[in-house]
Amino acid sequence: MSTDGTIRDAMRTIDRASVGVAFLIGADGRFVGLVTDGDLRRALLKGQGLDAPVADVVRPVSVTARISDSPESIAELFREEVRLIPLLDTAGKVVNAAAFDQRIALPVASPWIGERELQYVTECVVSGWISSTGPFVHRFEEIFARFCGVKHAIAASNGTTALHLAMLALGIGSGDEVIVPSLTFIATANAVTYTGATPVFVDCDPDTWTIDIPSVEAAVTSRTRAIIPVHLYGHPANMKPLLAIAKRHKLAVVEDAAEAHGALFDGKSVGSIGDIGIFSFYGNKIATTGEGGMLVTNNDAVADKVRILRDHGMTPGHRYWHTILGYNYRLTSLQAALGVAQMERIDEIIQAKLQIANLYKDGLKNIPGITLPGCASWARNVYWLYSIVIDGEKFGRSRDEVMQLLQKQGVDTRPFFPPLHRQPIYANDQHLPVSERLSDTGLSLPSSSHLRTEQILRVCEAIAQLQRK
Ligand SMILES: *Cc1c(COP(=O)(O)O)cnc(C)c1O
Repeated sequence: MSTDGTIRDAMRTIDRASVGVAFLIGADGRFVGLVTDGDLRRALLKGQGLDAPVADVVRPVSVTARISDSPESIAELFREEVRLIPLLDTAGKVVNAAAFDQRIALPVASPWIGERELQYVTECVVSGWISSTGPFVHRFEEIFARFCGVKHAIAASNGTTALHLAMLALGIGSGDEVIVPSLTFIATANAVTYTGATPVFVDCDPDTWTIDIPSVEAAVTSRTRAIIPVHLYGHPANMKPLLAIAKRHKLAVVEDAAEAHGALFDGKSVGSIGDIGIFSFYGNKIATTGEGGMLVTNNDAVADKVRILRDHGMTPGHRYWHTILGYNYRLTSLQAALGVAQMERIDEIIQAKLQIANLYKDGLKNIPGITLPGCASWARNVYWLYSIVIDGEKFGRSRDEVMQLLQKQGVDTRPFFPPLHRQPIYANDQHLPVSERLSDTGLSLPSSSHLRTEQILRVCEAIAQLQRK
């Protein structure tokens, strides 16, 4: 870009190129300097406007190299803050650039944050509405309700508190049982335990990895009050037979959709199908607010109760008057500002997830010993984390060995969750074979929505190389 541009122009350039850096070129075509997205962020935080000249922000000294320099000497120039080096010809014109090898660090999931997020958070800071009142929380709730096709979306401080609010709003407490899949993140069970109720663990289905329907039926007792299906790794649970069981036994259904923004069951948004749905906006989730959560429901009475419980149990219209025990589980405007920006591009994020899944599917489909994630005929899987199952016998290496060897090549992966019935705080003598096998052999691959095609191909190639039978 030209040196005459503004900070806004630089942001656009960076957004388009998605390498985190803009080069400034003088009128004579010579390289003048560079700005990183971090430089722009710091300038804005110092009070510079978006229309300020970028020339004010440009680094006094930028690391450059000659196009004729050896790769080794260029490699030595990379630092934490120097990830793209312009390569100049003798006239000082940029003819190429050397990029830090991304293999060094390919995380499982990193947030996709851009100009819009910065703009809204800045608006929030500048306006002074940084606590939980002000326009952004409402905007976030409205945009999310529309996204899920529900009447009410209520923001909470995180996914776990949203789930706790769901349990409280349904009146679940001591002596009650709630059926949860054993293969899930610990928060699903903890939210039950917070109320004094007991989580009852069931196995999962081998194809969708979500709650196993026959096991649910078998686990219902006279104390059962609710079922929490989890839309694990972005694949919806099989809601239709689950709702039938719930109806037959008069149980509530609370969908844990923390990992499944945009997933569909029979064309319907997850979260909108049961009595209540919850979502998480933690940093590695499909959309993020740093920390954050959302509860969705079509039930007016539940929504009213949740709003009261979220805000210290304060009686509506009667400030500082409390007839029930409530909590401070509110989301801040700063977080909601991030959330609004994320939701404005949620379709793009979901498309990126689907695209990543397609590339992985093509790249990994013929490798013996690798099972790819399923997608039931009634489902839209949004592949929060693209996850595979490794049969150690057929692949020639165990899941843990694969993890270690990929780590050496800078490819970060995550093992599946340990099943809840094996976790020290919930350990019991249950044997849930599918959950146990998946937990021991499942692996989540890098899945950030801004991953580039060549990075995914590199992961596939690395896995193919490790196969040895
Ligand atoms: C992330 C997650 C949660 C909890 O969300 P937080 O926002 O981290 O509290 C709950 N359930 C599942 C399945 C999750 O993956």
